[in-house]
Amino acid sequence: MELQIKNLSKIYDNGHQALKDVNLTIQEGMFGLLGPNGAGKSTLMRILVTLQEPGPGEVTIDGYSLSHHRREIRQMIGYLPQDFRFFPKLKAWEFLDYAASLSGIKSKKERTKEVDRLLEQVGLLEARERFANKLSGGMKRRLGIAQALIGNPRLIIVDEPTTGLDPEERIRFRNILSNLSQQGVIIILSTHIVADISSTCSAMALLDNGVVKYHGSPDDFVFQSKGQVWRASVGFDELKILKDQYPVITTIPSVNGYEVEMISSQKPMEGAENIEPGLEHAYVCFMENNV
Ligand code: ADP
Repeated sequence: MELQIKNLSKIYDNGHQALKDVNLTIQEGMFGLLGPNGAGKSTLMRILVTLQEPGPGEVTIDGYSLSHHRREIRQMIGYLPQDFRFFPKLKAWEFLDYAASLSGIKSKKERTKEVDRLLEQVGLLEARERFANKLSGGMKRRLGIAQALIGNPRLIIVDEPTTGLDPEERIRFRNILSNLSQQGVIIILSTHIVADISSTCSAMALLDNGVVKYHGSPDDFVFQSKGQVWRASVGFDELKILKDQYPVITTIPSVNGYEVEMISSQKPMEGAENIEPGLEHAYVCFMENNV
């Protein structure tokens, strides 16, 4: 299974260019598409799931072309959009049953089996009789991913799946995706939340203003910022001066002032210690160096 995107661009009718000559090759496993709001992530996701017309360029999935084999590609794809909504008055199982019948599973017996398999996979078997639109945010997202898994898609696309979830649900959701990613499928996780990428993705890309600024492993991405992340203790009065001089990533109040983590290519001040960067540091570093 391989997804290839070659020289893909997208210009909206109002003249805005949302994608600029995007090139990506994505293999089986979990792929993180990271970028700030407005970067073009949803545009790219919608093109891949055939909901949006592509611009110039070429997209192929396992040799099938997005321009010529839309039907075949649709059958390969499961999609959880950013603003997924449920019909009121449908229970969790009824919603999945309905979605399964729309996707062409005609036999009632087969659908029931599929619905229970999916509910179990996302940890919602016990919530099967609850109304879908009354579930908690995290449960709704899990029901959304269950819907995306109908028919065993080989390319699963989830757009900003953890926005608004509490930390526990966020981890739970990520674990579901992580388990799926070990089953020979491609999962593309589009997000502006760096932590979504760090723990789960084997490969990633950073999209900014429609341009792919990085494509590779999260580890290599982090490595690029080695030596540029510093921690220091500063007094209450010093913080503002420091912020004017360096990008500050975290500020934790302490007894005499603040513990600060910041980006600098050289030692920023006496007493500052160089620390191992994480993905969050690397992201800030990368965006700062690329302005
Ligand atoms: P992201 O998902 O990374 O937040 P989007 O793909 O939603 O980014 O948007 C990328 C850019 O394209 C933004 O500047 C957005 O305003 C613009 N855009 C999105 N949809 C449309 C549209 N239908 N018409 C014109 N511009 C759009």
